[in-house]
Amino acid sequence: MEYEPVIGLEVHAQLLTNSKIFCGCSTKFGGSPNSHTCPVCLGMPGVLPVLNKMVVEYAMKMALATACGINGECSFARKNYFYPDLPKGYQISQYAYPLAEHGHVDIEVNGGRKRIGITRIHMEEDAGKLMHDEHNPASYVDLNRTGVPLIEIVSEPDMRSSEEAAAYLKRLHETLVYLDICDGNMEEGSFRCDANVSIRPKGREAFGTRTELKNMNSFRNVQRALEYEIKRQQYILDDGGAVVQETRLWDDGQGVTHSMRSKEEAHDYRYFPDPDLVPVAVNGAWIEKVKEGLPELPLEKRERFVREYQIPPYDAGVLTASRALADYYEEVVRLSGQPKIASNWVMGDVLRFLNEEKRDIRKCPVKASALAAMIGLIEKGTISGKMAKELIEEMYKSGRPPEAIIKEKGMVQITDEGALSGTIAGVIAANPEQLAQYRAGKEKLFGFFVGQVMKATQGKANPPLINELLKKMLAG
Ligand code: ADP
Ligand code: MG
Ligand code: ZN
Repeated sequence: MEYEPVIGLEVHAQLLTNSKIFCGCSTKFGGSPNSHTCPVCLGMPGVLPVLNKMVVEYAMKMALATACGINGECSFARKNYFYPDLPKGYQISQYAYPLAEHGHVDIEVNGGRKRIGITRIHMEEDAGKLMHDEHNPASYVDLNRTGVPLIEIVSEPDMRSSEEAAAYLKRLHETLVYLDICDGNMEEGSFRCDANVSIRPKGREAFGTRTELKNMNSFRNVQRALEYEIKRQQYILDDGGAVVQETRLWDDGQGVTHSMRSKEEAHDYRYFPDPDLVPVAVNGAWIEKVKEGLPELPLEKRERFVREYQIPPYDAGVLTASRALADYYEEVVRLSGQPKIASNWVMGDVLRFLNEEKRDIRKCPVKASALAAMIGLIEKGTISGKMAKELIEEMYKSGRPPEAIIKEKGMVQITDEGALSGTIAGVIAANPEQLAQYRAGKEKLFGFFVGQVMKATQGKANPPLINELLKKMLAG
């Protein structure tokens, strides 16, 4: 039997506001346990939450970037459950009246585009963190994260493969980071994803029973967990069994999912409107103001790069992976006037050096101005492309501008015809046998002579000039 997977994702993104969603406490990561707390986020009796306006604006940014409709009025609800990381015994979230609904994002898969629907985006507060000491049978509770603002982005069950799910997740991630409303750190949990997956016989319309996967803290693990789960469900159905609706935990070490709780054990959250918070009214003027503040989004930037700089879509994709990288590239182009050459150097050498050390482009030792200057020196013929390869490595290691390194290392290319002719004459005189063979028709030996001249000049000679002079002089 051939099956088709059906996948829908629920993504939680921590917002980068300075203070928490319902109190003035800091949202900074780290901090000694329970130092960023107050009676409100500790859930003391008698306190009242006050909504942080920035949270609404950040959530609106994501809603606008994903083509959602923003509701004129939304409100908060209490989601009730008992767990030691939740001091109030309920999480303030949105339920019946979310901030935004009916959006979409486009993903690229197998060379084509596909639209993935977004069901809703709502605001909520994060819970605290439990810490366990392996030498001491106790749980410690850190409530610094309690009340940190989150948005939850729920997708339609529109994805049909783990690759589509990964592409969708990356699109959300880059959008959040571009908007500068989430740091996107999956390992620290600022960007988390629960994946719902079911399978159905190919051609059938009705969805199968789904499972919900949790505990994947990288894009790769989301994809691996989905692939494992799709196979697991296939074995069950092929065996005549039925998939049980349940929540399963991904085990990274073993590469499998384990049952966490079944539908019967699922929480009944007993949602009800939070009486402590008034509904939030969002008018058109506010939406317009937020819209005006939106930056250029990744897809728009990509299309503009292809149009404006005439670079291949692949290059544009790599160069717009982050706003900082795109800005760096555009600065090199602005200063050098060479979009394609700039793209080659940034994508090739600069990104390779950075990736080797997992260093951010914002901390790149080769400044955009230095790279542009180097491109200019190649263009002028001061250095050859081959020398530039060496030079950029040195620029990266030392953080120094190209001119200083060239001077110190005597890296100047020999472009003087007279000097080079002398060297070539010497090389020809030293290899009479090869010369005779070459003149007798063994043209392959041309490369041998080029190599000898390169060696004699320590790679400093201008290659087109070597070719030109050698051709002339070998002919006699
Ligand atoms: P819950 O409230 O239990 O989280 P929802 O109906 O809100 O359930 O769905 C959560 C996610 O599961 C959504 O992203 C949705 O697209 C996805 N989903 C719903 N049904 C299926 C299914 N049969 N197979 C795969 N994903 C599904
Ligand atoms: Mg769910
Ligand atoms: Zn607080």
